[in-house]
Amino acid sequence: MSNKVILVVLDGLNLSVARQCLGYLNGLIASQQATLYPITCELPSLSRPLYECLLTGVCPVESGIVHNQVNRLSQHESVFSLAMQQGRKTAAAAYHWFSELYNRSPYQPAEDRFTDNPALHIQHGLFYHWDHYPDEALFLDAEYLRRHYDPDFLLIHPMNIDDAGHQSGLDSAHYRNTVRQADIILSDILPQWMAAGYQILITSDHGMNNDRSHGGTLIEEREVPLFVIGEHFSHQQAQIDQTDICGVICELLGLIHQKPIARGIL
Ligand SMILES: [Zn+2]
Repeated sequence: MSNKVILVVLDGLNLSVARQCLGYLNGLIASQQATLYPITCELPSLSRPLYECLLTGVCPVESGIVHNQVNRLSQHESVFSLAMQQGRKTAAAAYHWFSELYNRSPYQPAEDRFTDNPALHIQHGLFYHWDHYPDEALFLDAEYLRRHYDPDFLLIHPMNIDDAGHQSGLDSAHYRNTVRQADIILSDILPQWMAAGYQILITSDHGMNNDRSHGGTLIEEREVPLFVIGEHFSHQQAQIDQTDICGVICELLGLIHQKPIARGIL
């Protein structure tokens, strides 16, 4: 059993579409290898504010990262900063806004796209700045980081589901089929991670609406899934808030931290 953690953030994934279209993940639930907890995302239901929420446990109105154009470093301890300061290895294959929140702002593609610096909070990074960057390539980027650096904490953040939602809306074949495509990619690599004993969380920042956007309080914008896989999870019924996910990851990594945590999940 390992203390290593992989966090997958499938950007813009609505809960009911996750239930309908992630066939492999729902198969893992049926065979009692995964558990799904519904989460109501914090507000506003926007990406950068909720990246900060997921990684620091601080909701947007408290963090000050209240919309996507607030481009500055996080002012709170994050999974990355706590892990790095306590001698754990960190890595991320993710949108460049994560680099801006935890490494350096603003992002300079020529400097920051490929990051390998033990002094940074995200020590090993492969960042992208195109919303259509293929999920398939992104997951391969993440596999490179995992195999090459063997990080204790690895963030994997593909963007195609959110991008499809902005183009075609929640109730569209394009959006649903993009989710199905992510499920196929996950079905290829999850068995390897599970065999290696990782603790795995698969969630989203926010959902999607039929106006091809998100940001407000509609249930379809706020309800997202949290799938958990691994022996350190209780796999019992529990109430978990989006602000608890950071603390749960810190516990799994064995870090000293002051973050809120939903104990029932562990
Ligand atoms: Zn979006």
